[in-house]
Amino acid sequence: MEKLGFIGVGMMGKPMAKNLLKAGYQLTVLDLNSAAVDELVRHGAVRAESAAEVAGRCDTVITMLPGSAEVEHVVCGEGGLLSALNADHLIVDMSTIDPLVSNRLAREVASGGGQMIDAPVSGGEVGAMNGTLTIMIGGPKATLDRCRDVLAVMGGNLIHAGDEVGMGGKVKLVNNMITGISMIATSEAFLTGLKAGLSMETMVNVVSVSSGATWPLLNHFPNTVLKNQYEPGFMLDLMYKDMGLALGLANDVGVPVPVGGLVRQVYQSGRAAGLGRKDFSVMWEEMAKAAGLHQSTGIDDGAS
Ligand code: NAD
Repeated sequence: MEKLGFIGVGMMGKPMAKNLLKAGYQLTVLDLNSAAVDELVRHGAVRAESAAEVAGRCDTVITMLPGSAEVEHVVCGEGGLLSALNADHLIVDMSTIDPLVSNRLAREVASGGGQMIDAPVSGGEVGAMNGTLTIMIGGPKATLDRCRDVLAVMGGNLIHAGDEVGMGGKVKLVNNMITGISMIATSEAFLTGLKAGLSMETMVNVVSVSSGATWPLLNHFPNTVLKNQYEPGFMLDLMYKDMGLALGLANDVGVPVPVGGLVRQVYQSGRAAGLGRKDFSVMWEEMAKAAGLHQSTGIDDGAS
């Protein structure tokens, strides 16, 4: 089987890498978190100490990093992928980053003789574990075809978003703008219901099978709000980053996004309260406090 490099084995990257190992690919992995690398080494992966070392061992390198700055560093920084690039290399960036950065990096990689596409994902940790992610690919179809089998191990839906690198990121930002807004909308509506005397159970039972059903309600609330714990999941810091990228895109193309702008500020208030590394649904707690409610219990604390 083909040798693959995998850089960034966090919440999403680790289960994605495990699925590639299970499918028989030989994986070389790199992450700043050596415990995450250790775990994959126990599953048969090989450890690398730099991105250049990954590129030296593998033609196809997948990156799954927090944001634009980390991807840029891994590609262009000292000891980065570019420093070891040749014409056989294909970089598949699956992180959610600024589409303009994706496009620029792809051009730099092309000038070094290699190829790069963007292929961000949706589906969360569960989708990563089950290999059922939606993968949105920006780049020439022929380049996608080169790594289609590899992507199919990680994703159930492979969608070619356009020939230009960055188109995957654009559609991912459209998706996450909706998710970010709907999380706040769901919390606001449920807190209203709680204070009006409804039980969480009634609201979950009704809304889950009605027109108000949202991804956060169906996929985050059961593990977070309803259990009163907020381990990610999808970190609030990452949602704040994605809302910022989505607003930047809207600004570039001249679309007013008043709701998105407001919602990003709501997430900013959660970060200011020190909750950035919690699941983004932790905003429920902050909004419950503002409503004078104790989290998911619905017990009025008398503050209102
Ligand atoms: P994470 O923070 O859990 O993982 C990122 C990993 O990258 C960490 O292990 C970190 O140590 C590593 N890293 C950072 N800088 C590095 C560097 N310079 N060199 C090597 N390793 C480095 O984040 P995540 O939740 O796995 O998200 C990764 C990407 O996927 C983000 O762009 C995020 O927006 C996107 N995403 C996340 C989810 C989700 O539900 N968590 C869903 C879809 C998309």
